[in-house]
Parts: sequence; C-alpha cells; structure tokens
Amino acid sequence: MGKNTTTDVCLYEIGENSFLLDTPGFQTIDIYEIESNNLDKYFIDFRDYINDCEFAPGCSHIKEENCGIKEALKSSKIREERYQNYIKIYDDIKDKEEHRW
Ligand SMILES: [Zn+2]
Repeated sequence: MGKNTTTDVCLYEIGENSFLLDTPGFQTIDIYEIESNNLDKYFIDFRDYINDCEFAPGCSHIKEENCGIKEALKSSKIREERYQNYIKIYDDIKDKEEHRW
C-alpha cells in the first residue's frame, strides 16, 4: 500500500488574500481561477483518500461526515498543516465565489 507521490503542489501566499499555485505541468495559476470544488485536485497528497469520501466527488472535506480526507488526517496520513492550508484557501475561494455575482 502507501503510494509515494513524487510531485507536490506549492502554494505561495503573495499577499493578504492572494495565493499563487505552482503545480507540475501548469504555469503559475492564480488561485481564484480555481473553483472551490476543484481545489482538492491540486492537493496531490489528498488524492489517494478522496475516493473514501462518502460524498465524493463534491465533498468539501470540511463539514462532511465520513470524509476520507478527515480520516486520513486523523491517522496522520495527511499533515495537519496541509489540511489547514486547504481550509484556508477553500474559504478564500468560497468567499470570492459568493461575492462574484
Ligand atoms: Zn471529503
């Protein structure tokens, strides 16, 4: 079991509410071009566990019960700081989306 990922996603905070996402194969992407429900795809270390989510695809991994990501977090397969980073960015994008219209 235990697949090793050789790639990683780097997120750079470039300002108060501004992040840059640098992923292999992508140019640097403005974080706000990502939809909140696609954010988990950019967290490569989440990928192995997303299928364990009861509501995948479409699980936000925050409020849901039976979430593979939260389970992985509990058993330390995902680092707490990665998850906190995810929540922070997710909230930012969500906020942006709600104010878009
Ligand atoms: Zn989930």
